[in-house]
Amino acid sequence: RLHNTIQELKGNIRVFCRVRPPLDAEKSEKPDEVLSHISFAEGDEQVIELRQAVESASGQKTVEKTYPFSFDRVFPPTTTQPQVFEEISQLVQSALDGYNVCIFAYGQTGSGKTFTMEGPSHALDDPDTMGMIPRAVHQIFDTATTLEHKGWTYEMEAQYLEIYNETIRDLIGGKEGKHEIKHLGSTTVVTDVVTVKVETPTQVHEVLRKASHNRAVAATNCNERSSRSHSVFTLRLKGTNPLTSESSSGTLNLIDLAGSERLSSSGSTGDRLRETQAINKSLSCLGDVISALSSGDKHVPYRNSRLTYLLQNSLGGNSKTLMFVNVSPLSGSFGETLCSLRFATKVN
Ligand code: ADP
Ligand code: MG
Repeated sequence: RLHNTIQELKGNIRVFCRVRPPLDAEKSEKPDEVLSHISFAEGDEQVIELRQAVESASGQKTVEKTYPFSFDRVFPPTTTQPQVFEEISQLVQSALDGYNVCIFAYGQTGSGKTFTMEGPSHALDDPDTMGMIPRAVHQIFDTATTLEHKGWTYEMEAQYLEIYNETIRDLIGGKEGKHEIKHLGSTTVVTDVVTVKVETPTQVHEVLRKASHNRAVAATNCNERSSRSHSVFTLRLKGTNPLTSESSSGTLNLIDLAGSERLSSSGSTGDRLRETQAINKSLSCLGDVISALSSGDKHVPYRNSRLTYLLQNSLGGNSKTLMFVNVSPLSGSFGETLCSLRFATKVN
């Protein structure tokens, strides 16, 4: 069942749900609250079901209410990083064929977005646990090497940006200043950001390390900033083949989104309020853009947020989008999990 290829699935937008395993501390401290409300249905469709005990209308007894959701893939907590990657490897590959690809991780803080995208911190080359970004990089370099025998040469460049409060920051260059998004034909340029030419996976690791260092530095100035900002890793791939006179130009974007937990504006003031509003707005705008694309709307509201405007050329048209909806195994997160799954269903 896990071996169906991505291309057999319909459309260019897919949603994969991943439930993270409970941490050791969660298992020992609150064993009853772990995974007790989630089940996985077997069958052709991949289904995750949430259960909640509610009082009956008369208030006499409690009944169980169930909320089933189906996605292109549902990964239970036992799913390993290599198993997840297997399901996205063809999508990654298509960036070498000239497609623009976006892979998002959506979910509340603590649901496993960063683990999925990067892996555990400082494990960029552990083959068991490294995340989708380093895996994608390795696969792209391996494939590019194979394609050399057929005459292809690839030029690759990497960029790593953060969007915080609707403002772009360069996680590689770290230069302060205003960065503007410009679309020149089908090329997107962000002014004044560092773009690194990469020729080996090690150079890409260097980029990832630098970015995570820059993010950590920023985090000391603003608590938990990384969960309140979107980080966007972009790899541009230009291929030429003098033997066949073919060329290709593709982009792979991997995006670790800001935590989706519902943040109420009431009670917040000043910076916190602006931050909250920026996150709410950009995530709902992303949902609007993806659902406009999947229902074939003529008007797609890219311009309503920095994130969607930045990714305009990689969403829609000749592009492929995948969203991971990451889910916590704790029953205390029931409400947030329900919201995340509903959001993900809306874009599916
Ligand atoms: P988020 O980025 O959504 O806030 P994290 O990726 O930081 O969440 O995950 C929260 C915690 O759970 C971290 O300690 C992380 O290492 C752990 N974790 C997440 N997903 C997994 C997984 N699939 N396997 C093991 N540990 C995980
Ligand atoms: Mg994170």
